[in-house]
Amino acid sequence: MDYVSTRGGAPPLDFAGVTLAGLAADGGLYVPREWPRFSEVEIASLTGLPYAQLAQRVMQPFVGDSLTPERLLALCETAYGRFAHAAVTPLRQLDERHWLLELFHGPTLAFKDIALQLLGLLFEEFLSRTGANLTIVGATSGDTGSAAIDAVAGREGVTIFMLHPNGRVSDVQRRQMTTVRATNVHNIAVEGADFDACQAMVKRIFADPALTDRFAIGAVNSINWARLMAQVVYYFAAALQLGAPHRKVAFSVPTGNFGDVFAGYVAAQMGLPVERLVVATNVNDILHRALATGDYSAHGVEPTIAPSMDIQVSSNFERLLFDRGGRDGAALAAQMAGFESTRAMQLTNAQRQGAAALFRSSRADAGGMSEAMRWASEAAGEVIDPHTACGLHAARAQDDLDPAVPVVTLATAHPAKFPDAVERATGQRPPLPTRVGGLFEREERCVELPADYAAVAAYVAEHAIPRG
Ligand SMILES: *Cc1c(COP(=O)(O)O)cnc(C)c1O
Repeated sequence: MDYVSTRGGAPPLDFAGVTLAGLAADGGLYVPREWPRFSEVEIASLTGLPYAQLAQRVMQPFVGDSLTPERLLALCETAYGRFAHAAVTPLRQLDERHWLLELFHGPTLAFKDIALQLLGLLFEEFLSRTGANLTIVGATSGDTGSAAIDAVAGREGVTIFMLHPNGRVSDVQRRQMTTVRATNVHNIAVEGADFDACQAMVKRIFADPALTDRFAIGAVNSINWARLMAQVVYYFAAALQLGAPHRKVAFSVPTGNFGDVFAGYVAAQMGLPVERLVVATNVNDILHRALATGDYSAHGVEPTIAPSMDIQVSSNFERLLFDRGGRDGAALAAQMAGFESTRAMQLTNAQRQGAAALFRSSRADAGGMSEAMRWASEAAGEVIDPHTACGLHAARAQDDLDPAVPVVTLATAHPAKFPDAVERATGQRPPLPTRVGGLFEREERCVELPADYAAVAAYVAEHAIPRG
């Protein structure tokens, strides 16, 4: 399988190449040249497989010759062996129609572990073939950072620099990042910045020859294709349990950077019978506006109780625009250049109609999130976190959907990651699972830097390891 850039101006790469590259050299994102397709018989043959085996079968067409089936299976068994639930992503029924897909049984209690535990192993595997060093630079609104740091801590050949907006992540999220002792981990708290400002600095690092000449800079944000690929697997896992390929299934997905829901789109392109994908946002609703009206324009970020979705510019949306807009890299490069200069753009008719075939969207304000958390607790006996609550709010608003279609809400974080918000809504304070105990006793390691590109770049240059 080879991969092409959404902006048409970077060389195609194989799977190992895109895993180490992150962003394409032309500023675009890598996507497979074509979607692999499973027949109904092939999908039916996946029913009942243990998660790691399912993962190998779903991902192999994307991995191609970069890993043998035996090696890919071994990596999946290692990655998913660290999860606290044997099913890895268990499905729970809320009522006759609604289901929760629990994606938070990994080491850092958010769905990002599912992709990042595998990605850490893929980095080590591909780097060991050449003896090269990789410098990971990322920005986080909380969950990516902790999951990425856990996944690469102590791994050979990798050094990680993680930027977070100082004071804008929860205590649990910050401590999950800063209490990791491995010497290849560098936490940077950026003063007076929001997530988008941190992300903008990361993008600048990727394009800064002073750094890219000396260091191989890689990504763990969901611009990295390997992350999206790993997330396709649990759409298959859930749909197979609910009767696919013979029954259609809808998914409601709490969305920030459009990575998780794009993985659902990929599953549908592969032949999984996905009836609908609901893009659930909080009040930072650029995606809801784009899908509902075609207006993709960034406003300021408003902090909410679902901070991992407090995002305006959704990197992976570009992948959808590329695929639904006729895969015209040159046209998309021009459209994105316009957006980057004005922070606004209009979707084309092809992009809008292409998206409308599968996607719906919905926006939850503070009241909507609280109401969903209360309903889950009172009607179904499940305590859910504020991100999942956006998803459930959107799922319950799908009045026009065929009642025979089950609706799966992706539960993206463990409620104990956001105990204050959950307690305010439901009166219950979710306890931290014992596997992450000790977080509040361990010492923190983190540098504070001003929101100044030169300061951040100098810090990276001083502590990173040349490409080798
Ligand atoms: C990252 C995150 C999201 C948003 O996922 P995207 O792939 O960025 O759309 C939603 N919920 C939680 C808990 C997250 O950590």
